[in-house]
Amino acid sequence: MNSVAIIGAGITGLTAAFKLQRKGIPVTVYEASDHAGGVIRSIRRDGFLAESGPNTILETAPEIGALIRDLGLEHRRMYSSPRAEKRYLVRERKLVSLPSSPMGFLRTRLFSPAAKLRLLREPFIAPAPDGEEETVAHFVQRRLGQEFLDYAINPFVGGVYAGDPNHLSVKHAFPKLYSLEQRYGSLIKGQFLGARERKRRAEVSKQNARKLSFDEGLQVLPQTIGDRLGEDVLLNSAVKSLAQTADGWTVNGDHHAAVIYTGPAYRLPQIELKTERYINYAPLSQVQYPPVATLVLGFRRQDVRHPLDGFGVLVPEIEPFNILGALFSSTLFPNRAPEGHVLITIYLGGTRAPHIGNSDFATHLNLALTDLRVLLGVTAEPTFVHHTVFRHAIPQYDVGYGRFKALMDEIETNAPGLFLAGNYRDGISLGDSIVSGHKVAERVGRFVNERAGLAAAVQTLVAL
Ligand SMILES: Cc1cc2nc3c(=O)[nH]c(=O)nc-3n(C[C@H](O)[C@H](O)[C@H](O)COP(=O)(O)OP(=O)(O)OC[C@H]3O[C@@H](n4cnc5c(N)ncnc54)[C@H](O)[C@@H]3O)c2cc1C
Repeated sequence: MNSVAIIGAGITGLTAAFKLQRKGIPVTVYEASDHAGGVIRSIRRDGFLAESGPNTILETAPEIGALIRDLGLEHRRMYSSPRAEKRYLVRERKLVSLPSSPMGFLRTRLFSPAAKLRLLREPFIAPAPDGEEETVAHFVQRRLGQEFLDYAINPFVGGVYAGDPNHLSVKHAFPKLYSLEQRYGSLIKGQFLGARERKRRAEVSKQNARKLSFDEGLQVLPQTIGDRLGEDVLLNSAVKSLAQTADGWTVNGDHHAAVIYTGPAYRLPQIELKTERYINYAPLSQVQYPPVATLVLGFRRQDVRHPLDGFGVLVPEIEPFNILGALFSSTLFPNRAPEGHVLITIYLGGTRAPHIGNSDFATHLNLALTDLRVLLGVTAEPTFVHHTVFRHAIPQYDVGYGRFKALMDEIETNAPGLFLAGNYRDGISLGDSIVSGHKVAERVGRFVNERAGLAAAVQTLVAL
């Protein structure tokens, strides 16, 4: 008995399952919903291809390309168009492109001359004292100034985490940024010096990483893994109970050597967990997941004045708009909209405005169209609409998140054979989740093989 139970068929669970199966270890994936892929969902309708959840994978780690290669999906992978390089932010109700060169930075009207001069001081600012955990907002104000926080980091954090820099911990939410200060004493210095180390680790920085999807959207990835796993994925099968036994774990009554939990952190305490040693895992229900709504809107090309010549636009909280941002989806990848049309994906809600995230379709559409009229010059109603609400979208690595991470370590130590992986532990991006699934499969593979070796040794001794 060396099978592994995997709870959750999001990209973390599916990656782990695929990797384990390739090692010859049998798996059963238990998925609560009726589909594999978790928050990844691509919808093809009326000639449009909409993503209701994530849109792109940033190719930051070698495990991502390796997974695509092992699945034989290289011919279906699509990198984003060079036309999608430009990124827009909003200042004084107008789109301004993010500068991409030192000269562009000096010329941009995104930051005032005073804010640009303030950046020059960054290499000379002392690191935060040891042991003091800072919010992203405090860290950025201290190192780069208020304007950089308001017009660059605030919208960026809204776009990545749907989060609020006043709550997120720089140490846990942006560990690489945090370590630049710790190791090099400066973000600017660290940016240059750190490039060498990334090269050694075969990693690519987020700003240089290529963005990818597939010919029929991101769902191609989980669907392909799901098809490979076949009957080993049990849909509509929420795990309600998990019990440790003398030689493994019982999951919904089935016996396994080990278990990997890849569902959201806040849902783990909803599972009845019986372990030999007492573990208070209830605090995980306090991990914050704000609501996010996505609206994918198709328009006739002539009904949008803006050229949509970029990745999209992020909206600083300080500006008088309701949306978090919008992606120019039909610029990013071909075949997202029929001839003569464009496709735009809008995000609303997040920690910034949970009441908006939790509103209804009519409110979301009204708020989005009101903002898009001003920002992108939208002059007519959409011809295509796809709406989704994630009531608990993305885990927030807020200040104090270390206590949750310590509890996760404690659970794994005190309940051997129960492993925790996913976006609540190893980083929130799709790339992070793929790496998380890959790494947990390595750990579980070793655990299962060691257990099997031990059992064989005991049997030999008994036979003697
Ligand atoms: C709206 C949105 C946009 C995003 N955009 C991007 C993007 O463009 N690029 C990017 O890199 N990242 C993006 N992200 C983040 C990224 O998509 C996620 O962090 C990642 O997909 C998480 O994968 P996961 O497998 O860890 O979790 P999930 O996808 O949440 O999967 C967990 C699965 O576990 C199942 N489950 C839960 N409890 C149980 C149970 N008791 N029993 C059985 N099954 C259970 C759930 O049904 C679910 O299918 C976005 C996220 C959201 C919500």
